Amino acid sequence: MTHYQSIRQQVIDYSRKLADDGYLKGTGGNVSIRMSGENVLAITPSNQDYYQISADHICIYGFDGTPIAGTLKPSIEMGFHSAVYQARPDVGCVIHTHQDFASALALIAKPIPALFDEQVRFLGRSVEIIPYAPSGTGMLVRQVRRCVQNHHNAYILRNHGALCLGPTPERVYHNVLLLEKAALSYLLALYTEEKIGKIPLPIREIAFAKLRREQKKIEQQLAAQKG
Ligand SMILES: [Zn+2]
Repeated sequence: MTHYQSIRQQVIDYSRKLADDGYLKGTGGNVSIRMSGENVLAITPSNQDYYQISADHICIYGFDGTPIAGTLKPSIEMGFHSAVYQARPDVGCVIHTHQDFASALALIAKPIPALFDEQVRFLGRSVEIIPYAPSGTGMLVRQVRRCVQNHHNAYILRNHGALCLGPTPERVYHNVLLLEKAALSYLLALYTEEKIGKIPLPIREIAFAKLRREQKKIEQQLAAQKG
């Protein structure tokens, strides 16, 4: 299955990079990459140490759940990864983590407002809370599918963790870091109980419009490829 080797290798490389940085701990979290031009994704297997597996262990599945390559069981969250790709043609990579500071906001259900220019430019107008549903369930898939329609690139899963999206693995990796930085700053600011300033509304809209333009460009390119 050399056809999928490049995205399999990228899934393993980014999983290890995130584990090295402390964003993926143990076997928690999962990483997937869309196979360009196909309804197929490469995703981390369920319950495997990212340092013990190689690219050949990365699962290849159709968005409808059809197994294509790999002998291990895929992540139990494959359903919401597939749902994101189907709902958002601009997304090429999905990373789900249990990162500490975003997870703290998941416990108090505090969406992150527009605090920093860079945050809005890459993550969206705000980081919303996706309502709670148990891991690996159809209920969680439905919640994710509904919430990602707002074209943002980062979400907090209530009582669970974080979900970051974007066009490329490099960008989504950057989004994971950006989310954690915003979450930590917001938590510290909340702790002071002082008034928290947000970026001005017109600036927020300019920054978000840049993100939307980029997403629309990708959608148009895909539409052109399909002819
Ligand atoms: Zn999880």
